[in-house]
Amino acid sequence: MVETFAFNVNGVSKTYVGRRSAVAAVDGVDLHVAKGQFVAICGQSGSGKSTLLALVGGLCRPTAGSVTVGESDLGQLTPSGLADFRGRQVGFVFQFSSLLPNLRAIDNVALAALLQTGGGYPRAYAAARACLAEVGLANRETAFPRELSGGQQRRVAIARALVNRPGLLLADEPTSDLDEQTAEEIFALLRRVQQAHGATLVLVTHDTRLARSADRLIYLHQGRIVEDLVPDRVDARLQPIERVAWPPPLHEASPSACSPADEPIQPLGAGLGRFVIDFLGWTFAVTLAIFAINHLTAGFQQRTVSREQDSRRQIEELAFRGMRSNVEDLVEQSDGSFLLTLSLENLAAE
Ligand code: ADP
Ligand code: MG
Repeated sequence: MVETFAFNVNGVSKTYVGRRSAVAAVDGVDLHVAKGQFVAICGQSGSGKSTLLALVGGLCRPTAGSVTVGESDLGQLTPSGLADFRGRQVGFVFQFSSLLPNLRAIDNVALAALLQTGGGYPRAYAAARACLAEVGLANRETAFPRELSGGQQRRVAIARALVNRPGLLLADEPTSDLDEQTAEEIFALLRRVQQAHGATLVLVTHDTRLARSADRLIYLHQGRIVEDLVPDRVDARLQPIERVAWPPPLHEASPSACSPADEPIQPLGAGLGRFVIDFLGWTFAVTLAIFAINHLTAGFQQRTVSREQDSRRQIEELAFRGMRSNVEDLVEQSDGSFLLTLSLENLAAE
């Protein structure tokens, strides 16, 4: 039986104190969420949604009140106990994919498993492979994040959140930067994996239409819960629930086009060589382009300068070609010097 978590938020406040003012991001919230529930949290920007999620996930501590997740009173945990709680019991999906760009999709997912569970590489990579298959990316295991679409990157982030089999999934606006159709797909996927894993899901979203497919809809305003309701929903788009066996048996790790099951597991960072080659290639191309631009600019400047010199020389030649001068006057001054008056005339036709 998979262990799931209910959580209790009791009289919780979180106040950020600045130099001049204090902001009550969460203000006296009481919230109980049952095991396996899907709760959507909506509210205007700045209403405290992310802060509430961070408090439940043990990412920050409340200024007042207590948060209990399963059996753990988060206020009683040491910093390392809290880190352990986050790693083992909570799966986070953030607003942007937050994948490590120089690791392949499978490495990104396996890393989360390697950091938390024993069992080493074979187990971590088998779990990562199973999770990627579960989110529909069995054939993109070896892709780097930049080679994936926004929706696919979000799927990898969901696989990463699932890999340690958390009882609590927390998603902070996971679809806000996606187009409508992709957002719907990601939403349905979250719903499906939540049900398949029997996890509790708390999802922050601006999209009240999608939020209506949750079991419970909570509105926050200025750090307080102003509505807590069960939405009427008919969501035919949700796909049938398929319970997953966990942890995945090693021999059942999903085969994929890119990475057959008998392919030796590559060590973490196997893509580093490719990254270095890419990097050097780009550096060379950019240097070459800068050199070429520099060379062209220098040539252009030199041609402009010599054109100007030529035209000045022609004007000088022209000015002096027909030059004649006549002495008009020569007067001796009282101090013994002479004052000479000349008249100059250019007789050239031009
Ligand atoms: P939401 O996710 O609903 O947009 P947040 O929880 O991010 O809201 O923020 C709630 C309020 O707390 C906002 O007024 C925000 O400016 C403030 N806030 C959030 N995080 C911090 C922080 N680290 N330091 C100071 N103020 C913060
Ligand atoms: Mg937020």
